[in-house]
Amino acid sequence: AQADVGVIGMAVMGSNLARNMAHKGFRVALYNRTAARTDQVMADHGDEGVFLPTHELADFIASLERPRRVVMMVKAGAGTDAVIDEVVPLLEPGDILVDGGNSFFKDTRRREAALRETGIHYVGTGISGGEVGALEGPSIMPGGSKESYKAIGPVLEKISAHVDGEPCCAWMGTDGAGHFVKMVHNGIEYADMQFIGEAHALLRAAGLSNAEAAEVFAGWNTGDLDSYLIEITSRVLATKDPRGTGADLIDVIADAAGMKGTGTWTVQTALEMGVDVSTIGEAVFARAVSSAQKLRAAGQAALEGPDRTISVEDRQGFIDDVRSALWCAKVVAYSQGLDEIRTAAQEYGWEVDMAKVASIWRDGCIIRAQLLQRIRDEYAAHDLTTLLEAPSVKAELASSQGSWRRVIARAAEAGVPVPGFASALGYYDQVRAPRLNAALTQGLRDLFGAHTYKRVDDEGSWHTLWSGDGSEVSAD
Ligand code: NDP
Repeated sequence: AQADVGVIGMAVMGSNLARNMAHKGFRVALYNRTAARTDQVMADHGDEGVFLPTHELADFIASLERPRRVVMMVKAGAGTDAVIDEVVPLLEPGDILVDGGNSFFKDTRRREAALRETGIHYVGTGISGGEVGALEGPSIMPGGSKESYKAIGPVLEKISAHVDGEPCCAWMGTDGAGHFVKMVHNGIEYADMQFIGEAHALLRAAGLSNAEAAEVFAGWNTGDLDSYLIEITSRVLATKDPRGTGADLIDVIADAAGMKGTGTWTVQTALEMGVDVSTIGEAVFARAVSSAQKLRAAGQAALEGPDRTISVEDRQGFIDDVRSALWCAKVVAYSQGLDEIRTAAQEYGWEVDMAKVASIWRDGCIIRAQLLQRIRDEYAAHDLTTLLEAPSVKAELASSQGSWRRVIARAAEAGVPVPGFASALGYYDQVRAPRLNAALTQGLRDLFGAHTYKRVDDEGSWHTLWSGDGSEVSAD
């Protein structure tokens, strides 16, 4: 055996991850179903480190030091199951099989449970940062047994991004915890991008050019909103059409957003657990509406409304309001996402450390942001039910909410759609309300379906004889 670790899957993510490992001094065995891909990686990058390219899976496995550490970077779903079926018979108890793809956490739970009896450690691992991250240092979210982390953790930590010497990689909890955290990361990414889109639309509605908006975003990137997505927004908005039409590129990109499903999983899973991730839901729905061409054509033809221009007297004041609204909405999205993780940890018995989650998202991944440092510090210092109650967060929400409310009101008056901002505020106002309209919901449910209600001043369940004499009877 000559290799420290092996990578299966030589598409963009796997090859870049393998190169990253080699750059860090690991001897890396390579395998891909289609051998030509492995040969191509060797031709292009074979001199970057110690690689052991193989064309047969048996040779690949034989080249690994024990316990074997195998990282799969293949297509999620059936592709992953196919590779598992081929690899597992070649592995031995104690070996570690890492799935670094975007697998659904329930699939990971199923696969981990099936392999546990064989003594092979199955480590579902979320990896974020795209192809550049994979090469230069991603954020890594491993699950699986605690024991397996002792063997695979040092490799993953070494290739991950680092902040102040700390790796952006930590054990997230057993079985599917790593893929769950990665799923929610992607859901938050959806919400983040939706908010940024709404902020851009508001700036445009107020008369800013794309170039001016690019400068505004660049300015925001030096403060509280400092983040990768804000930084690249500025770059996208400042880019001219490469075809030389003179247009801004953003204005010639079709406004129909694609998606690969992790946002939908985040929302579906939250719905099953009864957790409100409405901001992520709005972001997923907004992408769906954007691509619903027939619906939009019908709406454009039929529906009246204001012309989406916002006249501002105090331009800088408005820009600052939009900045505050963006910050507040973003905090709500993180809070909802972290709430989904906290709830899943209870449901599935994972020991998820929220400060660690925030900590490993600080760099390497797509949602990396200054805010995550603060979230990490708040979770490290306090036992929080919701991020919104963290001392520094609640104080900033209190002082920024005037701007947040103003922006949504202006948008509503002008007809600029801001479903993300509005949904985030709706959540904020719901969770701080002493009483919700749920009392009426319960009254209605009892009237039409005898579903019973509880009282604020008594124990037990009650039913009113709505069509009788109106008296109340105990339902217990
Ligand atoms: P793809 O998702 O395009 O998958 C291609 C790879 O999967 C190839 O190596 C292919 O082998 C292999 N494969 C597919 N089906 C099978 C099968 N039935 N048996 C054996 N091998 C199979 O590659 P990416 O590099 O884009 O992504 C890899 C994983 O990483 C995916 O799960 C993806 O979701 C995840 N990911 C991707 C990110 C990105 O930015 N692209 C970011 C984070 C995670 P062959 O060459 O023989 O076809």
